[in-house]
Amino acid sequence: MTPAPIRKVLVLGGGTAGWMTAAALSKVLNGQVEVVLVESEQIGTVGVGEATIPPILTFNAMLGIDEREFMRATRATFKLGIEFRDWTRLGDRYIHPFGTFGLDIEAIKFHQIWRKVRDRVGPIEDFNLAAVAARQNRFAMPDPDPAKVLSSLKYAFHFDAGLYARFLRGFAEKRGATRIEGKVADVALRGEDGFIQSVTLEDGRTIEADLFIDCTGFRALLIGQTLGGRYLDWSRWLPNDRAVALPCATGGDGLTPYTRATADKAGWRWRIPLQHRTGNGYVYSSAHIGDDEALAALTAGLDGPAQADPNFLRFQAGRRDQAWIKNCVAIGLSSGFLEPLESTSIHLIQAGITKLLALFPDKGFDPLEIDEYNRLTAQQVELVRDFIILHFKATERSDTPYWDYVRTMEIPDTLARKIELFAGRGRIFQSDYDLFAEPSWIAVLLGQGIVPRQYDALVDTLPEAALVHRLKRMADLIGQTAQAMPDHQAFIARYCAADAAANIPA
Ligand SMILES: Cc1cc2nc3c(=O)[nH]c(=O)nc-3n(C[C@H](O)[C@H](O)[C@H](O)COP(=O)(O)OP(=O)(O)OC[C@H]3O[C@@H](n4cnc5c(N)ncnc54)[C@H](O)[C@@H]3O)c2cc1C
Repeated sequence: MTPAPIRKVLVLGGGTAGWMTAAALSKVLNGQVEVVLVESEQIGTVGVGEATIPPILTFNAMLGIDEREFMRATRATFKLGIEFRDWTRLGDRYIHPFGTFGLDIEAIKFHQIWRKVRDRVGPIEDFNLAAVAARQNRFAMPDPDPAKVLSSLKYAFHFDAGLYARFLRGFAEKRGATRIEGKVADVALRGEDGFIQSVTLEDGRTIEADLFIDCTGFRALLIGQTLGGRYLDWSRWLPNDRAVALPCATGGDGLTPYTRATADKAGWRWRIPLQHRTGNGYVYSSAHIGDDEALAALTAGLDGPAQADPNFLRFQAGRRDQAWIKNCVAIGLSSGFLEPLESTSIHLIQAGITKLLALFPDKGFDPLEIDEYNRLTAQQVELVRDFIILHFKATERSDTPYWDYVRTMEIPDTLARKIELFAGRGRIFQSDYDLFAEPSWIAVLLGQGIVPRQYDALVDTLPEAALVHRLKRMADLIGQTAQAMPDHQAFIARYCAADAAANIPA
């Protein structure tokens, strides 16, 4: 007999993860499955998470969101990549841009050609439109014509996390999702199989469901506290365990179309420009710096006056051993945490939702499908983990004990192998399910100072003078395309300026 279909889903938690999940389920399940979200204003949300990566456009498209409306509502700006300052050594800068570098010539990768002739053609950043545009504070929509250089532009957003959750709440409620305000005080399990049966709120209301999505953030109330899911600790590779966030008035370089990540004494600081303010934070290791010193360093680097009290957060890098246990799926911070250096958490929420929809269960909860969800999740998160560790490991900095530690620490074998392959002959292969494609790895490997000792021997089959000529022409075209793009701030003003008089929640 076919098991009965899922009739009701309870999403516990109303942060970014909860509302992204409720929005997607209410849209895709089309009213056939009841979607209820419980959240507690008393507990609140982490209130951070403002930078994204290009796949968020796919999420918006799946929901059918109008981009201008979404950007106005969340006071969003465009993001073309991340500028890394002081990572390899003090004073060093590079951009990890979205999109690709140059053009391959048949089987020969562009970066291999660049490696051979780099002394005559300039930095690899000159061959990525997003990087060149970011340096000039420019933005334009990608051209749909694939023959145009502008078609290669990839972008994402910076937005206000609180406004994003509010926007998605409106979206989900319009499509039938129900919101219940209240704090869960108790969780009941079914006697026969230990599946979650219901949650009970502090006021005594009990809510039953067939499927429970744990979006309770670091608390992990269902997957961790209730079902006892194990947490795999990665702090030996990622020792940062604290952050302090502090928004400020717009100033300094203004509305840059990129996030800035500046390496500091015992961690790194972020700068994320929004339409109405700039988001800032310092992610640090409490073993190497105290809260007061971290706040002082953050405050000293602000573009303008602080606009709120500092928000201190604690975390431990790692992941849940199993993100899906019985009838409970953990999405968001409840499923694990990787520091926001490459803006990957919101994407991992999206990836969790996509996989859940692809493996949407019935009441039989096929163990093989649950196992597949967990296998894919683990693979995906570990690849992101390696990519983040790379930024710390590949450094020449030795100016503080923190940098000495990360520079000399042991790293996962998977990453060590990747670095060695690249350092030799620039070999790089995208693993299945890697969120970061080859150009991202190339940008960060080169940016962090790992220049391949040799280049692909196949490059020598091509006439050198013609290669130099071709690359110079490519860089010229990219430069001219960037020059013709409007200023980012002017583009925002025309495309999606938020109503300055509209109420902005604190
Ligand atoms: C310092 C920092 C910076 C970050 N920057 C980025 C970034 O730039 N880009 C990015 O992609 N990600 C970033 N992230 C990650 C991002 O913030 C999170 O992935 C995202 O906000 C999702 O959080 P969440 O919804 O899982 O948890 P939360 O926001 O903590 O939400 C938890 C929800 O659960 C509810 N809840 C908890 N317990 C109960 C209970 N008992 N009863 C009822 N409700 C309950 C709470 O009320 C809340 O609604 C950052 C994270 C940190 C810590």
